[in-house]
Amino acid sequence: MNTYLDSNKFAQQTVLTIYAHADDEVLPAAGTLSLMSKTGWNVRCLILTDGSLSSSDIKGTRHQEAEAAGKIIGATYEFYALEECNFSTQTVIKVAEEAIKRWQPNLIITHAPQSEKYGHRDHEVCAIAISNVATRKNIPLWYSAPPVFLRGFEPNFFVDITSVIEEKIAAIGCYESEMSKAFMQLDAILVLSRFWARELGQKDGYFEAFEIARQWVDASFFAAMANSNKQVLTQE
Ligand SMILES: [Zn+2]
Repeated sequence: MNTYLDSNKFAQQTVLTIYAHADDEVLPAAGTLSLMSKTGWNVRCLILTDGSLSSSDIKGTRHQEAEAAGKIIGATYEFYALEECNFSTQTVIKVAEEAIKRWQPNLIITHAPQSEKYGHRDHEVCAIAISNVATRKNIPLWYSAPPVFLRGFEPNFFVDITSVIEEKIAAIGCYESEMSKAFMQLDAILVLSRFWARELGQKDGYFEAFEIARQWVDASFFAAMANSNKQVLTQE
């Protein structure tokens, strides 16, 4: 057997997602995180704020909702209580550096950096801070799709989440306190994941889109890719 394909030979990999608000992680990445946990990755979600400025009036509820979503997608959560719309890049850098020390992630996923003209101010600050840390510490970094305005987001990596679309829908459904918001509309979320499928020339299926900001690989990556290509060929 090829040693690279023997899963026992892999050390467990950890993905660390760092997002400003609870729910930011499920909208663009619940399917991908679910696939990663199913294949043995340790999935850690770090949320910077506690939802105290959310238009939903139930502070703290979003943490419980996040943990319920985490049970579905196989993720564990860690929450900070930075003040929404009032935390600095330096604060996020410090939080991220501590989390990296604890979890030693093989991959970080965060917001796509967007001008405040389009995106939430907290997303932008988080994205800049995490980009700085990932670059300095040489950790692979992916940006996930913004919840609404896609301006400035240049996806170059797509994950087929068709097999876990029900998990994604269920994870989003855990955020009951957010359901009145436009960006939580399930039909629009599904349409976007169908849009990415169309961009890939696929008539069916659901995809999540990422922009790779930084990535490095070793031989195991090519072994896994070769194995994946074989499976595609077998299916045809
Ligand atoms: Zn957010």
